Amino acid sequence: MDGKVLPRSFKTQAPIIVKGEGIYLEDESGRRYIDGCSGALISNLGHGCPEIIEAVTAQLGRIEFAHPSRWRTEATEEAAREVASMAPEGLDYVWFVSGGSEAIESAVKLARQYYVERDGATTSKAQVIARWNSYHGSTIGTMGLAGSMARRRLFSPLFLEAPKIAAHYCYRCPFEATYPSCGLLCARELEKTIRRIGPQYVSAFIAEPIVGSTVGALTPPEEYWPMIREVCDRYDILLIADEVMTGCGRTGANFCVDHWKVTPDIIVTAKGMAAGYVPTGGIIVRNAIAETLRDGSGAFLHGHTYNGNPLSGAATAAVFRYMKKHHVVENARAQGERLATGLRKIEATNPMVGEVRGKGLMWGVELVADRATRAPFPKPRGASALATKECLERGLVIYPGGGMIDGVEGDNFLIAPPLVATAAEIDEILKRLEEGLDAASKKLL
Ligand code: PLP
Repeated sequence: MDGKVLPRSFKTQAPIIVKGEGIYLEDESGRRYIDGCSGALISNLGHGCPEIIEAVTAQLGRIEFAHPSRWRTEATEEAAREVASMAPEGLDYVWFVSGGSEAIESAVKLARQYYVERDGATTSKAQVIARWNSYHGSTIGTMGLAGSMARRRLFSPLFLEAPKIAAHYCYRCPFEATYPSCGLLCARELEKTIRRIGPQYVSAFIAEPIVGSTVGALTPPEEYWPMIREVCDRYDILLIADEVMTGCGRTGANFCVDHWKVTPDIIVTAKGMAAGYVPTGGIIVRNAIAETLRDGSGAFLHGHTYNGNPLSGAATAAVFRYMKKHHVVENARAQGERLATGLRKIEATNPMVGEVRGKGLMWGVELVADRATRAPFPKPRGASALATKECLERGLVIYPGGGMIDGVEGDNFLIAPPLVATAAEIDEILKRLEEGLDAASKKLL
């Protein structure tokens, strides 16, 4: 027998990574790379952080697992207190799972159960409205909400397809309008869709505050989230913010919705929550929702073996303590400004950079074949893959993506270093990025 890992791709063989330290990764040949995208916006505290390693190791020495149907653990109780301390006011309940997709499905199920408990078993409120050009996970349940077009096509016969509206994509507006004279047609589409379906059938609207992986950090106009909140309130629909990528300090705020002073009913989190030290995810729930269940049936009819896992709890509590003690969110904000300034210089000079966009330490770069017409590169040219390769050769890891709007595929990537990066490290990232993109544009244009 010759056991092998079924790889994500048989076409390329990824190097074996053996060590991490701060923003650096080291492979088995001793080559060092800057982790310019924190894995996939996970390793918010960088690699090898002693405080988190000690907290998880100490927890392993106490109790490694206790089944959530029978026990609570101190680690998970502490994690809930820490998470709620950085969440918007009035969201004090945290349901812990093992990753983002599980957390999204928990949010969707909770929204349905909330209305059943509140209005009775005959309620028809169940559908969740989502958005195109979004990503909420790769399970069958989450892919019905969103997903990369290529993956969706393959698996779509399996989905429970959610109704969808367009995402805010000002660079390629789906309504062919221009901000601000557009009056935010993209946000107003939510109300139209609710009215078409009938609010009595809709339980929730789900969206990423800044769209992450599909189209590269699509950042909404200032009015977008307040408008969405108002519509959800008016039609009695829960607002679920998928902060799997944007949460836990990534955008220079505790949670991304804080930028617009909007409080969702459920925040979905994962990735940065335990910063990659242990698989973790969770939903942070408005008190009124949790208390409707408490005063009704008395239980959330849902569960996984790893709910409230003590190792995840210990890592999460340690990550949030670390963020507060070391002013990580403030650093993300300050270094984010430095990164933004550097990216804007690259945008002004590199002929294939169409747009840079983002907040804090979450930035997307959209690549185009023609800046005047915004025409994307033909897909076979593999522009984002080439940019990624050129950066990797210069020891910088970026996160490539490809979006699709109205049948047109594009190229983009995310640049999102650990939130503990220093000014000197940001400058080094920008230097390598500029060189990598110069080399790629010379080959592509
Ligand atoms: N939601 C968003 C916004 C994500 O970016 C991701 C993962 O990239 C997920 C959900 C799914 O998380 P996971 O891969 O942990 O299942």
